[in-house]
Amino acid sequence: MDFEPRSALQAERARASKLLVDVELSMQDVSDARDGANTDDEHDPEGSTLAWERGSLGAVRDDARRRVEQVDAALGRLDAGTYGSCAVGGEPIPEARLAAVPWAATCVAHA
Ligand SMILES: [Zn+2]
Repeated sequence: MDFEPRSALQAERARASKLLVDVELSMQDVSDARDGANTDDEHDPEGSTLAWERGSLGAVRDDARRRVEQVDAALGRLDAGTYGSCAVGGEPIPEARLAAVPWAATCVAHA
């Protein structure tokens, strides 16, 4: 295999972990801005914007957190020797899919 799953996974883990930290800092900023403004979300246009911003940051944070979990699970499969086998059918996951999605636990058909 030319593809190096462990280094690809470690790179993705570093990227997602950094994103997670950045998003949590941004959420803290949004939270501080709201506390400082002392606004009412339902009636204040700026308050609604802050609430929306925090909600969308929350979605980014949840995605980043999930990605870290997926990458950790894939690293665990590498250590266990089951990496690259579909978690549903047990057939080999095509290398092209692993190259595109190194944390993939299933083939495309079972995704
Ligand atoms: Zn499968």
